[in-house]
Amino acid sequence: MLADNIFLKIIEGKIPARIAYQDDRCLAFHDINPQAPVHVLIIPKKVIATHADVTREDKELLGHLHVVAARLAEQLDLADGYRLVLNCKEKAGQTVPHLHMHLLGGRQMAWPPG
Ligand code: 5GP
Repeated sequence: MLADNIFLKIIEGKIPARIAYQDDRCLAFHDINPQAPVHVLIIPKKVIATHADVTREDKELLGHLHVVAARLAEQLDLADGYRLVLNCKEKAGQTVPHLHMHLLGGRQMAWPPG
């Protein structure tokens, strides 16, 4: 089962997080359990439970998340490469029902992913 939407509580300021960036549409914060030297989560402020729930209305928002990811990667010294991960639903390992992009970097990544 996907857990409670803890990310909404972070957006609302009810739970603290180490914020890397925010604007009116999105929030980026450092993962509490980092899987790489840099591990930032980029989330829309709009609640979208999973990637499968995106609609045409979300096109601009999703593009915005990618632009924010690219700029954050520059700021966090990931010019030599980084990985973006978006887990969709339980079989992919999604645990929080609020669409989020993982920005990972600072070490060599392996392929295929687990
Ligand atoms: P998922 O497994 O759903 O793709 O990713 C959820 C991510 O959220 C995990 O990497 C997990 O460590 C992170 N996470 C869960 N709860 C919190 C929290 O309260 N604060 C922060 N900063 N990250 C969290």
